[in-house]
Amino acid sequence: MEGRKGYKFLNWARTYSCTPLLYFEPSTLQEIQELLGRAKRERKHVKVAGCGHSPSDIACTTDYMISLRKFNRVLEVDTQRMTVKVEAGISLAELNNLLPKHGLALSNLGSVDGISLGGAMATATHGTGGEYGVVSTHVLSLDLLVASGEVLHCSRTSNTDVFLASLCGLGSLGVVVSATVQCEAAFKLHQQQMVTTLDKVLENLEEHISACDHFRFCWYPHTDNVIYWYCNRTKRPVKKEGSWFWNYGVGYYSLEFMYWLSSFWSGLVPFINHTYYKLVYGVPAETVARSDKVFGFECLFKQYVMEWAIPRAETAKALNELKRWIEINKFPAHFPVEVRFVKKDDIWLSPAHGRDSCYINIVMYRPYGKLISHADYWAAFQKIVTAVGGRPHWAKDHTLGRDQLQELYPKFKEFAALRKKLDPTDMFMNDYLRQVFEMQSDEAAGRRTFAEVTV
Ligand SMILES: Cc1cc2nc3c(=O)[nH]c(=O)nc-3n(C[C@H](O)[C@H](O)[C@H](O)COP(=O)(O)OP(=O)(O)OC[C@H]3O[C@@H](n4cnc5c(N)ncnc54)[C@H](O)[C@@H]3O)c2cc1C
Repeated sequence: MEGRKGYKFLNWARTYSCTPLLYFEPSTLQEIQELLGRAKRERKHVKVAGCGHSPSDIACTTDYMISLRKFNRVLEVDTQRMTVKVEAGISLAELNNLLPKHGLALSNLGSVDGISLGGAMATATHGTGGEYGVVSTHVLSLDLLVASGEVLHCSRTSNTDVFLASLCGLGSLGVVVSATVQCEAAFKLHQQQMVTTLDKVLENLEEHISACDHFRFCWYPHTDNVIYWYCNRTKRPVKKEGSWFWNYGVGYYSLEFMYWLSSFWSGLVPFINHTYYKLVYGVPAETVARSDKVFGFECLFKQYVMEWAIPRAETAKALNELKRWIEINKFPAHFPVEVRFVKKDDIWLSPAHGRDSCYINIVMYRPYGKLISHADYWAAFQKIVTAVGGRPHWAKDHTLGRDQLQELYPKFKEFAALRKKLDPTDMFMNDYLRQVFEMQSDEAAGRRTFAEVTV
């Protein structure tokens, strides 16, 4: 198939871009196999792109880019077993719209559904819930197209190693062409929004996590304020209680303007964080809606983000350290600092591998696309979380190299050896993956100094 020249790939946040030599949108397995054959003959690297939501250069390449946006068919729905087999380019939004027609739903989701299943699996995308693992933990089997052109069918009972590696493969093992996902009966969620302080939520953390199916909280830097949410499966009637401030876009537009103003006078940020907490979110509220509508979280406008998974027991230490750093350095940290909880798993490179985890996500918005300084904040946060054994969210910024990563992941060396076996000519490598699998930490830190970029 013909490839497109001059295509510019931009990630969602417009923080990373690339211009692949050729860009392809195959719609059949045979087309993807032919492309891999061609890349092999021409000694080109290949990058599969999902929906480009990763806030790093993990999906970038200057060689061949294969988008799976047309590779999104539903292959099988089994209502008895509550499973669905789909092509990996399908977006979670497409799945969320399809599943209720069969009385099914995904058990847990992250904040956005504009991402592909393949992309969600590749980076161990997660939602929240003490008894819920990353999205990949719901995958029962998958088909992986490797560099040789062979398709490997993998599950817990067949090609087990390849399976446990591919459930968070970073796009480095091959192309996940399809996956079978365990769903559950379609359900509604009852979400309660409540307010507290950082000290109190940290004191009672375990009680909160076990009090509901999906617990998460957001802390507002420069204040003690916390908003937290309990989400439970429910049979109650649908109830929508949104704030007019957000429903009519007033919150969105005014916040972008306020943060833009603060880019000239950073002293405004504490005032903004405090005011928006008080006026807008700091009101207890309830919602009952279809599960995927409640899992979704308004991420507002373009932003830089950084997120790490730490052992759950270290949550208070890491957050108190972060708070202290922000106060001492008077850094104008935007809200929210989002905190979620994920059950441990056995996926080789999952940040929740072998330990119940707390994910902490920090954000700096880019009002009207403006470049906003964040490098010091990022570096300080990375230092705080690595001190407690933090593992980076693979889709997001970090400066760790191979030596540090192999300390953090008991299966890292096995993963690297398997990757080399499945992809002996490094067809699926890109700069991001070279950082992860080849660079030592000092070299890695040189490559990615949290470059304050906008594209
Ligand atoms: C607004 C926003 C909100 C977000 N919320 C969350 C959240 O709540 N929780 C969370 O964990 N993350 C979150 N993320 C991060 C997001 O889930 C990940 O970046 C995810 O990988 C994006 O999927 P994608 O389809 O856009 O993949 P891309 O960004 O296009 O690609 C990511 C990686 O997946 C690989 N890949 C994609 N498809 C395949 C395939 N079929 N086979 C092999 N490799 C493949 C690519 O090669 C690349 O390495 C968020 C991102 C944004 C922008």
